[in-house]
Amino acid sequence: MSLRDYQALAPLVNRLHKSIICGSISHAYIIEGDRCIHKTAFVKDFIKAVLCVEEPGYGCDFCVTCRKIDHDNYEDLYMVQSDDLSVKDSMISQLQEKLKGKPTGGMRNIAIIEDADTMTVRAQNRLLKTLEEPNAGTILFLLSENTENLLPTITSRCIIYRLGNYLTDNRDMDLSQVREIVDMAAKDGYFCDIKDKLTKYVKDRKEAFLFLDGMERLFREYLLDGQASPFRKEQIIRNVGYVEEARRDLLANVNYKYAIRNLILKIGG
Ligand SMILES: [Zn+2]
Repeated sequence: MSLRDYQALAPLVNRLHKSIICGSISHAYIIEGDRCIHKTAFVKDFIKAVLCVEEPGYGCDFCVTCRKIDHDNYEDLYMVQSDDLSVKDSMISQLQEKLKGKPTGGMRNIAIIEDADTMTVRAQNRLLKTLEEPNAGTILFLLSENTENLLPTITSRCIIYRLGNYLTDNRDMDLSQVREIVDMAAKDGYFCDIKDKLTKYVKDRKEAFLFLDGMERLFREYLLDGQASPFRKEQIIRNVGYVEEARRDLLANVNYKYAIRNLILKIGG
């Protein structure tokens, strides 16, 4: 399937298409979605869009590259699957060996780690090395159901897309609103002022989730561009962990206002 056929995911597809055309694709993505969402198929279609020269940015479905990817025999695409329980350290180690080699078919080595949220802590720590210093052209896709199972050091280095959000709700939180609140917290603004803004921007549980997604995107921007960040690098990584905690709280049905306010206090602290 070509990326342009994902009509229900149009906002996400547009964003990915633009990133391919502008040459600004990330070296690591987390694609999150329930078990019922076929994440691997979507990611393979994304990879086609990246590699296809017939229809760059979408994938033509017919060229040799697209067909090889569809048939799981593209030479530089590596799949990692969990055994019944987890993705083990040894599996990541084997993957790293493969990624060390130069790509044979094109310019990129690409890996898809299915069930990445079942990676053991050791496996995650091992993978971290690849995320920190990837070889040029490498792209890693971590497919996950519960990204909260991943270490903040991993999530902070990946672009996260939740397919479920795009399937059910096309809105993204306006990043300038998120930035406004985070900057106020960073500068030790009066909490009552921050609370007023929050009441305006985050009106229900769903918006609270979007707010957390926006915050994660913002922190990743800060990681990439330290100049723009009001936080030091260690603080940013710590803050990404706080965002994950807040998301866990929301999933555990903690009141959304409480979860977000608690998060802001931690970030500012
Ligand atoms: Zn093609």
